[in-house]
Amino acid sequence: MTERLQDLVTQSVERDPEATALVGGDETMTYGELEAASNRLAHALVDRGVKPGDRVGVLAAKTPATIAALLGVLRAGGAYVPVDSASPAARAARIVRAAEPTVLLADDTATGLVDGLAGEGLDLTVGALGEPLSGERFASAFARADLASLPAEAPATSSPDLAHLLFTSGSTGVPKGVMITHENVLAFVDWAIRHFGTKASDRVSGHPPLHFDLSTFDIYATLAAGAQLHLVPASLGLDARRTAAFIRDHELTQWFSVPSVLTYLARFDAVAENDFPALERLLWCGEVLPTPVLAHWMRRLPHARFTNLYGPTEATIASSYYDVPAVPADESVPVPIGVPCDGESLLVLDDGVPAPVGGIGELYIGGVGLSPGYWRDQEKTDAAFVAGPDGERIYKTGDLARADDDGVVHFLGRTDSQIKSRGYRIELGEVESAVNTVPGVRECAVVGVDTGGFEGTTICCAYSVVEGTELPVAELRKQVTALIPRYMLPARWEALDGLPKNVNGKIDRPALRERFRPAPKEGT
Ligand code: AMP
Repeated sequence: MTERLQDLVTQSVERDPEATALVGGDETMTYGELEAASNRLAHALVDRGVKPGDRVGVLAAKTPATIAALLGVLRAGGAYVPVDSASPAARAARIVRAAEPTVLLADDTATGLVDGLAGEGLDLTVGALGEPLSGERFASAFARADLASLPAEAPATSSPDLAHLLFTSGSTGVPKGVMITHENVLAFVDWAIRHFGTKASDRVSGHPPLHFDLSTFDIYATLAAGAQLHLVPASLGLDARRTAAFIRDHELTQWFSVPSVLTYLARFDAVAENDFPALERLLWCGEVLPTPVLAHWMRRLPHARFTNLYGPTEATIASSYYDVPAVPADESVPVPIGVPCDGESLLVLDDGVPAPVGGIGELYIGGVGLSPGYWRDQEKTDAAFVAGPDGERIYKTGDLARADDDGVVHFLGRTDSQIKSRGYRIELGEVESAVNTVPGVRECAVVGVDTGGFEGTTICCAYSVVEGTELPVAELRKQVTALIPRYMLPARWEALDGLPKNVNGKIDRPALRERFRPAPKEGT
């Protein structure tokens, strides 16, 4: 069995160094080039003091050079920390400060943000993935051209099991760093390649951003199979026609994304009958795909196979799958999240004991995908990773579920205030913390409202202000924009004299949700 993620690439190089590994924008990289580029970068990192187990931050667009950089970090024995470049500097600084990277790798798309990090008081050694970078408060210590003279063979370092840290939204306002090991990812990749039959002739989409754990499936399963990874530019955003053109023009054989992308393509009718003739399988993960949207896709693409993947970052990429057998007959029935992937287990527990078949309970996950825990946060780790009924280590997902007679698991919602909006995992508590830090805010509550349409959950904020303070919505919104990424920003705001309270004196969130719920359209 392969021991480290970078070995997957080396094996593909041995099979065919001339084969194309990565396609992104105008750049393509063969397996041989990828191996050499990552090895050279590894030497540069070792020369800058990166030792086995050190973290290396990555603030860069999703390009072939960035993927080579991730592998370079692993070859240097380090663990990479992809930072969301859509984050304002204040939030990115919290992540970088927590990760304590020895080096921060950046490209020219991140110059402003790196400068912002320096402005937050971080003393960083910056390596430029392209041309040298400089801002008002930093200059890169090395750049791509400096690597040319370094050896194309990997440095002799050990490679500890920690592969990367992925920071997700935290309910108290502080992002949580999920530790992911080589073993975690290798186990999923091994299952996925067998289950989906990934082969060297495959042309696979790379849609999720690199700080999403879903991207690790695309990267490592594709490179392990010796196939081509086609990086979907973030600039396509939710442009349905251009996204469809990308799938068509790149003759993709596999598409994997969060459901909102599929929903937009359906909404704008961007997929023709029997479109994408090369497409063999379409996979999604991260949130519920509305059944009518799935049925639309299945009718349009009768030649493709459709699979729902389910799982939290803490259990690595996905823990269960459901291969949809046929176009759903009843579009009001949600798609199941299915059965465990090899080496994983799903447990529906009610008060700590297994719920009876069909009974609702909280979903726990055990097995090979389980992260060792949250980076330097034993308390949160102990609260989320607990002992199961047989003493085994299991992760408390916060999802509600039930298993049917066939052992197929159905997702029923959340037990807490974590939501998904366009695939982004958001703790509403993190949004509230940001709003609460704005001077003049007396009280605020952020709720997710299911608007029932294609948009899914809408983030809504109600607030009141300290007496004598003027804080119009536009001003508050502007200040909050500097604290959290755009995708966390409430879409609807309301200033109230006071927030509604329930009998216990707590903020009445159901009442607020009702307040924000759109009035039903006439005739519905
Ligand atoms: P993340 O860590 O971003 O992958 O988010 C994990 C959470 O997303 C899970 O705990 C679920 O609440 C939700 N989720 C992931 N996959 C699915 C799916 N296929 N169907 C419904 N919800 C999902």
